[in-house]
Amino acid sequence: MGEVSQPILRFAPSPNGYLHLGHAYSALFTAEMAQKLGGKLLLRIEDIDTARCRPEFSRAILEDLSWLGLEWEEPVRIQSRHFDEYRTAAKRLDSMRLLYPCFCTRTEIAAAAGEKTDPDGAPLYGGTCRHLSPVTRARRLESGEPFALRLDMSKALAVTGPLDWREMDPKTLEPKTVPAHPERWGDTIIARKDTPTSYHLSVVTDDAVQKVTHVTRGRDLYEATAIHRVLQTLLGLPAPLYCHHHLILDAEQKKLAKSEGAKSLLALREGGVSAAEIRRLLGLSAP
Ligand code: GLU
Repeated sequence: MGEVSQPILRFAPSPNGYLHLGHAYSALFTAEMAQKLGGKLLLRIEDIDTARCRPEFSRAILEDLSWLGLEWEEPVRIQSRHFDEYRTAAKRLDSMRLLYPCFCTRTEIAAAAGEKTDPDGAPLYGGTCRHLSPVTRARRLESGEPFALRLDMSKALAVTGPLDWREMDPKTLEPKTVPAHPERWGDTIIARKDTPTSYHLSVVTDDAVQKVTHVTRGRDLYEATAIHRVLQTLLGLPAPLYCHHHLILDAEQKKLAKSEGAKSLLALREGGVSAAEIRRLLGLSAP
């Protein structure tokens, strides 16, 4: 008899600030989806940016989520404890000769990009260090200059061929196939200068390790899914189903952001707002 596997979903916040209403929506959306699908909910703390992430924010995340009435299965996966796994994945891409060191600073990248941007609106990397001669590259590596590792996207796509993913409708739960456009990102970063991984590499590694079957997250990460499909294909990882939900916007119709002082759940809670009111505010039904 074939075993029917249980859907596995995850909420994956970054502890670089307190959670706000946007995170509450994402967490509650994921929990609701897990319930609809008869699946389980996992939690992952995405703290690869050790300079900006802080343990007190991780603690606050657990408190906020419990206050919202959420329950998740243990263990919680903490990314900063798994750098070796991401290093191994990066080595595998390197052994396929798909990576190269990039020494460029932010200013150099912006100057070289001109008007060209990636789907996030950031300056598009034009491949400056891809063109370095082997001698120059070796000399700069030897001199101890800091470098990131970038994926040679054209080479990678020659290996993978055209890609797509399955995007699930949040209401009907029907999946449809969406063509992926990873080339829009150029040679994306696989390991940053300051940490031996990147958001993209960690996320695909962890979704596979945690056996995530349905990735639910905000619409702001829709285009990044194309990069995730490239990495999953190169690393031989399964492709989960995706479901990107709408974003909670502020009064100026901009995405809520910690950096722009969006009111934290902690502040709302301390101001006397209840978890039930948060749900109502977000247009979600009672649990
Ligand atoms: N850590 C990411 C964030 O807080 C979410 C990653 C994901 O869901 O794939 O925006």
